[in-house]
Amino acid sequence: MSRSHPELRTPPALPEGGLRVIALGGLGEIGRNMTVFEHAGKLLIVDCGVLFPEEHQPGIDVILPDFTSIRDRMDDVVAIVLTHGHEDHIGGVPYLLRERRDIPLVGSRLTLAFIDAKLKEHKIKPVTREVAEGDEVSFGPFDLEFLAVNHSIPDALAVAIRTAAGLVLHTGDFKMDQFPLDRRITDLRGFARLGEEGVDLFLTDSTNAEVPGFTMSEGELVPAIEKVFRTAPRRVIVSSFASHVHRIQQVLDQAHAHGRKVAFVGRSMVRNMGIARDLGYLNVPDGLVVDMKVLEKLPANQVCLVCTGSQGEPMAALSRMANRDHVIRVTEGDTVLLASSLIPGNENAIYRVINELTRWGANVVHKGNAKVHVSGHASAGELVYCYNLVQPRNVMPVHGEWRHLRANGDLAIRTGVHPKGVVLAEDGFVVDLVNGRVSITGKVSAGNVYVDGETVGGATEAHLKDRRNLAEEGVITVVAIVDADTGRLAEPPDFLARGFVHDESTFTEVEPLIEKALARAAEEGVGGAIQLEQLISRAVGQWAHRTYRRSPMVIPIVIDA
Ligand SMILES: [Zn+2]
Repeated sequence: MSRSHPELRTPPALPEGGLRVIALGGLGEIGRNMTVFEHAGKLLIVDCGVLFPEEHQPGIDVILPDFTSIRDRMDDVVAIVLTHGHEDHIGGVPYLLRERRDIPLVGSRLTLAFIDAKLKEHKIKPVTREVAEGDEVSFGPFDLEFLAVNHSIPDALAVAIRTAAGLVLHTGDFKMDQFPLDRRITDLRGFARLGEEGVDLFLTDSTNAEVPGFTMSEGELVPAIEKVFRTAPRRVIVSSFASHVHRIQQVLDQAHAHGRKVAFVGRSMVRNMGIARDLGYLNVPDGLVVDMKVLEKLPANQVCLVCTGSQGEPMAALSRMANRDHVIRVTEGDTVLLASSLIPGNENAIYRVINELTRWGANVVHKGNAKVHVSGHASAGELVYCYNLVQPRNVMPVHGEWRHLRANGDLAIRTGVHPKGVVLAEDGFVVDLVNGRVSITGKVSAGNVYVDGETVGGATEAHLKDRRNLAEEGVITVVAIVDADTGRLAEPPDFLARGFVHDESTFTEVEPLIEKALARAAEEGVGGAIQLEQLISRAVGQWAHRTYRRSPMVIPIVIDA
């Protein structure tokens, strides 16, 4: 397999007739998927998502792909293709459109409806081009063909990209559920037809490449969900992704069959289900969905709430119910159904919510104790199937951490793809397809761009390090009034500490250390406030480490007397 070389730098010019592929996100991580294709001087972008922060990135709202490498070339961008409406594929679009508002967004009806709602919040009216499976459209030198794929959101598309450099097939996120609720299966006949034509580069979803076998069908969840509705003595409270229209459909069907009324709770749930219903993706029997006020008057065993917060997000409805911070109070006998995945990194938050709900007396049904979730991604068996159908010349695994990309690449090789044709790249690696061969030819900047409240890209790794340090070690502020003539302390320094365990006497032993440091500085003729502050910072830091084995942030302030 072609592997990455960290020393790689700016790539050479793309040979004429070649195709350049750069993933600015989604490789080596699950999220912020974004791939840039370059051909004949023009750029085509496929997806532009966000990544959600982990615990070591405190205060960060979302993480964006780094647009630096294309910022000067926005006029060359012919379109952004959005494969489906998940946040990790569309969440970055509002930020990309800040660079150039009129880049056409190309996607299916539901995908465009979801992105449109999001852009409204950012007060952006986008230029859109709706497509459906089977459609062929051209943007600049890129001839696109769209194929249906099945995923955990309706209306997902794979995209075939034809240029003079060859035929590329990008699956987007997909799986091969043979019995999906909407009967819209992944277009394997189309995949095979493209395979006959000759796929030069196949970009495939790696998320579940390590999982053997086949991903279960959505339909296999019916018995477990039905059981919840049949046996729940009081209210049923369901939490799932606000975009998982088919999962919510199953919940609505069971609620209807068991004589319950439903209310949607949580901003994104209300919004998305409204969109899905209006566009005909969600089938809601008349009178089933009612207002909260109507629901409250019904007996508990006729009530079903469908809310956000299945990942333990602290501000979402379910977490707030668990924390007694929501008008809806979970009580003894309520049944909570978490019909969702447990995304790695969210486990602690989710189990905290489950524990709290249980403490209030709820019976919590989740994927750990019932068959209430199936993945939206193809497992190894499905990927192998695809490779055998498509028989691509070259393969670039996308969407996944290193272990997923590697596992996916191994599957391709096992089906007969030449190891040299399997390219494992990281974000920012420049992959060129020239004369039917792929190679890594360089690297562009593709770091994390943090959205931090209203600032975009302002927060750096250094800021996050400070935040972690403040959270774990606390802070000591030292105010020292220094006599400008002697360089000595004019009066004892003031100490102010937060988060650093101390009492009244703690800092008495630091004072002489500061005095000593200042005296030495005076002797050596060091007198600038910044230098003195550095000396004080070092003296206090060393003392805290020596005495308490702690490394608080020290903020020295030197004032001339
Ligand atoms: Zn997805």
